[in-house]
Amino acid sequence: MEKDDLKKMETKLLLSLPEGLEVIGINVIDGVLIISAVSTHPSACCPLCSSLATRVHSHYTRKIADLPCAGQQVRLLLQVRKFFCEVSTCVRKIFAERLAPFVEPWARVTTRLYQSVQTIGFATGGMLGARLADRLGIQTCWMTILRRMMALPTEPVQQVIELGIDDFAFRRGRKFGSILVDMQSHKVIDLLPDRKAETAKAWMKGHPEIKLVSRDRGGDYAAGARQGAPQAIQTADRFHLYKNLVEAVELALARCRTEIRNGAALAFSEEEGKVVEELRLPTEFVSVENWKPAPDACTERERLSRRAERYDRYAQVTALRLQGLGNAEIARRVGLTARTLQNWQKQGSFPEAGRRRKRPSCFDPYAPYVLSRWEQGCQNGSHLYREIKAQGYTGQERQVHRFLLPLRKNMRIIQKAESAHMPLQDFSAKDAVWLFVRDPTTLDEKEHATLTAICQASETARTIYQLVQEFRHMLHTREGTKLDGWLAKVTASQIRELQSFVLGVERDKAAVVAGLTLPQNNGLVEGKVNKLKLIKRMMYGRAKFPLLRQRVLHAL
Ligand SMILES: [Zn+2]
Repeated sequence: MEKDDLKKMETKLLLSLPEGLEVIGINVIDGVLIISAVSTHPSACCPLCSSLATRVHSHYTRKIADLPCAGQQVRLLLQVRKFFCEVSTCVRKIFAERLAPFVEPWARVTTRLYQSVQTIGFATGGMLGARLADRLGIQTCWMTILRRMMALPTEPVQQVIELGIDDFAFRRGRKFGSILVDMQSHKVIDLLPDRKAETAKAWMKGHPEIKLVSRDRGGDYAAGARQGAPQAIQTADRFHLYKNLVEAVELALARCRTEIRNGAALAFSEEEGKVVEELRLPTEFVSVENWKPAPDACTERERLSRRAERYDRYAQVTALRLQGLGNAEIARRVGLTARTLQNWQKQGSFPEAGRRRKRPSCFDPYAPYVLSRWEQGCQNGSHLYREIKAQGYTGQERQVHRFLLPLRKNMRIIQKAESAHMPLQDFSAKDAVWLFVRDPTTLDEKEHATLTAICQASETARTIYQLVQEFRHMLHTREGTKLDGWLAKVTASQIRELQSFVLGVERDKAAVVAGLTLPQNNGLVEGKVNKLKLIKRMMYGRAKFPLLRQRVLHAL
């Protein structure tokens, strides 16, 4: 008997049941932990007149779901009583005793279970929340989760001195809302269902204490703030300001692509002209059948010279043919017979000279083996010599080295072609713009080299870079007073994409100067927008405005 009492006492402690509830039985039925408990308060308070009542009218049982215990569902069977209210003037004659705040009247779950479901909802959303709850041993459904989330009251907005406002997309590029952030407490204070000036104005009218509105560069928030909070300073957000500049720079760079590319090609061909010349000749292919040892240097030089001449003539013929000249006329001009030209035409590509006859060599039987080893990456001549010697090769080691020379030469040409890849021919304004707008100390060596090459290749690019970096510096050091000087420089630069950026700045100049000077920054609001996007995605983008607002305002 005593042991049994102890067990019940422990159960009560384990489940942290409130005072006044005593455990009278523990059972497991169908995997559900059933805890029977009885209310032991000698009296209860009448909910109407608040006087204490002691005379019991009747007993009844409430079935209440509770938090799971070690992953097991828990159900409480609470035996509660009805009392007579004995105050003669009270309208209520009979009332049920209350167990709040542990269980609210009429509730079928404990308050702690209710709150857990709510928390799961705010952390995950309806559908995902229902699945998570199921894993945790909580029985619920997504509708209940959403209902509980919506039931949580939102705190009324307190005083806002510095307001940050920005837009976000419900559906990308189609439907927008606004997010409002208290710039001092860094908290999201409200969401608005659109980004219209009227809506922002109405909200700000309710907060005459606002002293500063940090906004993006859209005209709607400017108008909303002007009318709704005329007492406040407006600051154009630095993030958006810089973003607009980045867009202008990208356009300007896109327009100069030709200038940059040609400039780079010119610098390149002066410096590396020799390499280019060599690359213009097609590489000779080595196969087992035509594989010969390298000729001596002198013969090879002669052969190459003749080949270069022939190649040049071939190029000349092709060009003349493109001009529409016939074979007879071309032959006359170039100094070849019409017959040769016809043969070339039939062949359709650069005619290599007839090969020197290949002399049989004692190396030939081992050629396929050496070639395959070469392709596998074994390119050491002495090593290969030892390998074929073991297979019966009787020739000299020098012979092997001579056979490998043409392979080495081909490899060098291919490597050169790869490394001498002309700079900036793949220039993209979209990539280059980040080299221009970033802090130069954060660029790595390669980025630095690319940036330098671009600026060397084009004077316009050089000017753009100087202007952008000046602006970046001004923004970084909060020297809004220097704005006028900068604007004048841009106007003088004649770069039209930057000039349209300047026009935009002129239209909103007071706010831009404030944005460049004051420490407040909408970067904070941007961060909140990102968080909002995350929440939206977690709900697969399906949340309607009221639920989204509720989730963002109560985000964990
Ligand atoms: Zn009463």
